[in-house]
Amino acid sequence: MNKGKLIVFSAPSGSGKTTIVKHLLKQEDLNLEFSISAASRAPRGEEVNGKDYYFISLEEFKKHIKAEDFLEWEEVYRDNFYGTLKSEIERIWALGKNVIFDIDVAGGLRIKHKFPEQTLAVFVKPPSVDELKRRLKERSTESEDKINMRIAKASVELATAPQFDVIIKNYDLAVALEEAHDLVKDFVNK
Ligand code: 5GP
Repeated sequence: MNKGKLIVFSAPSGSGKTTIVKHLLKQEDLNLEFSISAASRAPRGEEVNGKDYYFISLEEFKKHIKAEDFLEWEEVYRDNFYGTLKSEIERIWALGKNVIFDIDVAGGLRIKHKFPEQTLAVFVKPPSVDELKRRLKERSTESEDKINMRIAKASVELATAPQFDVIIKNYDLAVALEEAHDLVKDFVNK
């Protein structure tokens, strides 16, 4: 199988990494396909099963852990499990494409350690924790409790930034999008 590159985008929730990943997926010169994670949480807003995530029950998720079907998995928030199925990467490599991930920092670093040469691990940095809070509230898809849980986790996640290959500062979205495109283009053409 022709093994493509792995592009990891990790960041605290609300940093804008999903916007960046969606933008990159539209760029044909990058030949990217999104790694659809399995998640034990319920769909939010307009999310679609098999497109944004494979939404599965907690029970099913635990069965996949036992069967060692995951390349990596995390209990990102309490009782909310997320993971990358090995079969997902194989599906994308079989298409002859590079894989792009939108996953949490622990999962991102795990992939980097498993495939050090093939992976570009990018950390997306928000302007500040206050700005994160504002963005999450503006998104208003979640309860105050859940937002606070995400903010608490963000400070811990920000400390892992130096372990990534590159840090993109998402202070101005247009600048961040261009920077991300250039970085990924260089890496996939290497
Ligand atoms: P959300 O609930 O906002 O969609 O995602 C919560 C967090 O889980 C985000 O940081 C997201 O990137 C992360 N995440 C999504 N899929 C995976 C995955 O497969 N593995 C890991 N480790 N984290 C994931």
